[in-house]
Amino acid sequence: MGFIDGHLHSVFLSWYDLSLMAEEGIDAIVTLAYMPVPPSSPSSLRDHFEHLMFDKTRCGSIGLRAYVGVGIHPRNIPLNNASNISEYLKVVEDYLGRADLLGEVGLESGSDLELSVLREQLLFAKRTDKPVIIHTPRTNKFRIIEKIIRIIDDVGLSDDRVLLDHLIPSPRIIELVVDRDFYLGFTMQSGKASPEDVLYLVKTEEEFIERIVLNSDSGVYPSYPLAVVEAYEELVEDLDKTVAYRLASLNALRFLEH
Ligand SMILES: [Zn+2]
Repeated sequence: MGFIDGHLHSVFLSWYDLSLMAEEGIDAIVTLAYMPVPPSSPSSLRDHFEHLMFDKTRCGSIGLRAYVGVGIHPRNIPLNNASNISEYLKVVEDYLGRADLLGEVGLESGSDLELSVLREQLLFAKRTDKPVIIHTPRTNKFRIIEKIIRIIDDVGLSDDRVLLDHLIPSPRIIELVVDRDFYLGFTMQSGKASPEDVLYLVKTEEEFIERIVLNSDSGVYPSYPLAVVEAYEELVEDLDKTVAYRLASLNALRFLEH
């Protein structure tokens, strides 16, 4: 098995980007739902999910195994149409059986509406036994992660079916997750996380070696499709090859193929 990019948005990547990833040793990707413009109707959401399903085949023909996630990203909650939210949630429920996982879902501001949309979707994941990738925001990360963990516990999802994404190595956040079994997603982008952050974490807590999953989150915004490969190359300068390989491949595989 080559590398796995644990979080990206392939519908915004070109044939060239994806081919480059395959050529540089990436074997699999996790491609997640996210629309830069929120859906104006449940059928727009449905079309986005169909596009993701199409992309599984497109990536496959390039040599990348694509794991597809469907879900309503917190920034995709149709605020002008919130009374209709159950119809949007129904679309997620309809597609989750065909998808490999739920994602990307999560919280952005932590509003009551976001909390209830996340809770409903986690219930779908529990019912279908699908893994979940959860977005955490740039601002108020600690408080929002606390809220997310509360919902996970309320719903009764088991920790090892959940990946908390876009984490940073802050001591307060480490404290929140250190005694739990969540997978921990680190996005290799400037302003999000770096290989040095990951190195620091695995040296602080050896058990994180089993749970960290690297990703590029490439797609709409500034990002680099080879970020996971580049991070691996930096990490092997300081870590045992087998350890770096867990972070860039094996952990993601265990999370996805549980
Ligand atoms: Zn993303």
